[in-house]
Amino acid sequence: MVAPGTTFRTDELDATHTPVFHQLEGLVVDEGITMAHLRGAIDAFVEGMFGSGLRTRFRASYFPFTEPSAEVDMECFVCRGASVGAPDRPCRTCSSEGWIEIGGCGVVNPRVLTAAGVDTGRYSGWAFGLGIERTLMFADGVEDMHDMVEGDVRFTSAFGMEI
Ligand SMILES: [Zn+2]
Repeated sequence: MVAPGTTFRTDELDATHTPVFHQLEGLVVDEGITMAHLRGAIDAFVEGMFGSGLRTRFRASYFPFTEPSAEVDMECFVCRGASVGAPDRPCRTCSSEGWIEIGGCGVVNPRVLTAAGVDTGRYSGWAFGLGIERTLMFADGVEDMHDMVEGDVRFTSAFGMEI
């Protein structure tokens, strides 16, 4: 399943963060599901949203509902890493780090499945959460998060909406 939803955090509103944002949650539960399937799904998402040839990586992390858990980064689609260690070619999109964090993911903690009445001897799963606003920022070149939360119709009408 994939479900969009509103997420609340204690972040301050700045150019790249907002305390209220939207996230796309993905969850797969079936027999024989592994983290390798999760990698494949993330790679397919990145290719579908940003084009082919971009690498992804997982960094070990902690989330209460998945174990193991990982932060998901994708290769910067603007500089593709060429700005790293090259002060003469800075990249605003990735802050010259070569990677962009796009969300979190992991193998569903068996305790979560047990609580849902799922037989963990037979079934396993993975889940991800990807920020819709961050994806929009990167996919459509939105430079400031303020544009997405301040309700200016000049901004939203550029995306075919007037909200
Ligand atoms: Zn970059």
